Amino acid sequence: MFEYLADIITNLFVVAAAVAAITIINNRNQQRETVNTQRKMLKSDDEHANAQMRTAGTPECAECGKGGDGLKACTACNLVKYCNRNCQRVHWPKHKKECKKRAAELHDEALFKQPPPREECPICLLPLPLNPEEISCDDCCGKIMCAGCMYAGHTRDSDDRFLCPFCRTPQLVSFEKALEMTKKRAEAGAAVSFHQLGHYYHDGEMGLQQDYDKAMELWLRAGELGHTLSYDTIGDAYYNGEGVERDEKKAKYYWELAAIGGGVHARQKLGIVEWHAGNACRSMKHYMIAAGAGFEPSLQKVREGYLNGRVTKHDFEKTLRDQKEAKEAMKSDQRDAAAALGPWF
Ligand SMILES: [Zn+2]
Ligand SMILES: [Zn+2]
Ligand SMILES: [Zn+2]
Ligand SMILES: [Zn+2]
Repeated sequence: MFEYLADIITNLFVVAAAVAAITIINNRNQQRETVNTQRKMLKSDDEHANAQMRTAGTPECAECGKGGDGLKACTACNLVKYCNRNCQRVHWPKHKKECKKRAAELHDEALFKQPPPREECPICLLPLPLNPEEISCDDCCGKIMCAGCMYAGHTRDSDDRFLCPFCRTPQLVSFEKALEMTKKRAEAGAAVSFHQLGHYYHDGEMGLQQDYDKAMELWLRAGELGHTLSYDTIGDAYYNGEGVERDEKKAKYYWELAAIGGGVHARQKLGIVEWHAGNACRSMKHYMIAAGAGFEPSLQKVREGYLNGRVTKHDFEKTLRDQKEAKEAMKSDQRDAAAALGPWF
């Protein structure tokens, strides 16, 4: 029995060492899909606006009235067209109010839309957990796996436990080797690898010199490639003034991008920001979406909202059901076993 326990303890140390070479990646929903979804959403909004324009019968320049091909739509609202930038500039004082109103509507439509479905663990095929400590990413293949699958892989009773549970690459490698693998994947366009490199530069890890500018640049690239969490991280940096000048507006901007891609933590922060700005309704909308995706702290806020009359009974009950469903979908015995072992899984 004691030998058995000693063996388990040894295994745990081995696993801990392996995990040390693994970067824990925070909660992240979508990679490329997010950007595509955002683009698709904007496209459908474009189509909507175009349809409106067609029915409104304004196929000519809003300023000079000239028709023809070559007219360019106002990219902010898509409600009007111009033959050139000069016409647009001249028309701006007349168009400004309508443009800003429509742009704000388009923005909110994208922001409060139901987020895309949660990305799945490539091994167990269940939606990835929301808790960043229950998700890991190996340097080898850059697959984001759930702690349950990491646990099952690394506690196997053979040398297999030293391999990446997904791609079977040996895990106990030097930092140089791990860094090389991450850089290689980034060069191949993997969003998560840009994100990971950003953290290495931010923290001065893996033998790299600490470099906040470089970290921001890499996170931005990751975000553009669809790694939602990177936008959340950038938002945090602006909010905390860490490595950049503190800027709440920019923080909100990046959190919104993260929320659109499905980031529940970003949505919770937006809920708080909107609440403090006196926008209780927007705040509750954020909380309801995040709670519906399974995020408990947001459900607490929705409950408070229900008790003080800001959330209807119908919305509260729906949010409760959605949360239950989302949490059940993310649950497995392996994940429970990993959670019981501690946060380094
Ligand atoms: Zn014109
Ligand atoms: Zn406009
Ligand atoms: Zn899994
Ligand atoms: Zn791998």
